[in-house]
Amino acid sequence: AARLCSGAGGEAKAADGDGAMLRHLTRKLRASGPVTVAEYMREALTNPGQGYYTRRGGVGESGDFITSPEISQVFGELIGIWYISEWMAMGKPNTFQLVELGPGRGTLTDDILRVFKQLASVLSKCDVSVHLVEVSPKLSEIQAVMLTGGKVQPNPEDKSAYMKGISKTGIPIFWYRDIQDVPPGYSFYLAHEFFDALPIHKFQRTEKGWREVLVDIDPEVPDQLRFVLSPSRTPATQNFIQPEETRDHVEVCPEAGVIVQRLASRIEKDGGAALVADYGHDGTKTDTFRGFRNHKLHNVLSAPGTADLTADVDFSYLRKMAQGRAATLGPIKQREFLKNMGIDLRLQVLLQNSGDTATREQLLHSYDMLMNPEKMGDCFNFFALLPHHRLVHPDKKDKPESKSPLPPVAGFNELLLK
Ligand code: SAH
Repeated sequence: AARLCSGAGGEAKAADGDGAMLRHLTRKLRASGPVTVAEYMREALTNPGQGYYTRRGGVGESGDFITSPEISQVFGELIGIWYISEWMAMGKPNTFQLVELGPGRGTLTDDILRVFKQLASVLSKCDVSVHLVEVSPKLSEIQAVMLTGGKVQPNPEDKSAYMKGISKTGIPIFWYRDIQDVPPGYSFYLAHEFFDALPIHKFQRTEKGWREVLVDIDPEVPDQLRFVLSPSRTPATQNFIQPEETRDHVEVCPEAGVIVQRLASRIEKDGGAALVADYGHDGTKTDTFRGFRNHKLHNVLSAPGTADLTADVDFSYLRKMAQGRAATLGPIKQREFLKNMGIDLRLQVLLQNSGDTATREQLLHSYDMLMNPEKMGDCFNFFALLPHHRLVHPDKKDKPESKSPLPPVAGFNELLLK
């Protein structure tokens, strides 16, 4: 039961938790009127006292949803290979930062660091550090245990990183609340199921023009929330709906746009690459806002703070927000990306090396979860930001014959590791 494509599964009945977030929201709505869906989502997920990620952050089998890195170690290993392949293609710079946004339980970075260790001879002269951007105190603790065995210290002398430690493989790790706090420098960025958790605005086309969907108290039922439409246009309708829009319902995630702008500028200035993996679409879908609790779909307006809220990532919007500062690749389906990265070969090796039937069945089952088009294979996508010179030679008019072909970008093409 992963968070699959929109509409999958039945609706879960909501139990109300302790209702603290609902009380906080109804007080706010009574005092100042309906709020945007983005404001509602921000409160429900990352409110410092009662937010879902702040308190629960239920990634994993015992939580509310499961993600690819939690399903199979192979997923993170292949992503680790992607970074090494790009590092080599970019001329093996002698230092890089691995920056993960929203690391969940830390499993993905753990798998990547294991690959870095196995390929230590390749990376030997490279100075690597890890930088995690995480708002949830609860999840940062889980990440610290996973990655360092719990050996971390608060970092009050440095105002940007709130915690630091050393990974089990000997690499320094720092934690931040915001990407802007991560020091500049050559960096490989990773965002797996991160952008889908950021707050979206929702808009509905009506006979009177575009209206924003808002969240309000239901006057008929005490302590229940409902969606309403703004009586007139809001600043967001003006800013985010394109005149050529053909859909009747549109979701926009401005926070994702701001983060992609930052990533693109940083890559343009300092070099590196970003890999974004998430479920999403290319500017075609309409209503994808949904909730998950105990691995079941959950009414987004019921018991806020107790369920994960999410919306499909609009990759066309991310591409637009890169504003030409970085080149983009994808979105490409997860099953194609992993196939290009050599998942079949990796599976064969693991199957050959595993002695017992149970392990083999587990390997085949997790491969099916990641690759089957009906499961995670089709609705999850990979998308990359790269410096322009990684894809196109800078213009060398005087000596065009000196251009050697640029190596293809792994995942989006077949992996060619020498
Ligand atoms: N990448 C992980 C976890 C995905 S869940 C995996 O695939 O398993 C989303 C993650 O993003 C959580 O770690 C959550 O706490 C974090 N997060 C959500 N909103 C955030 C924000 N605004 N800034 C930083 N981290 C955020």
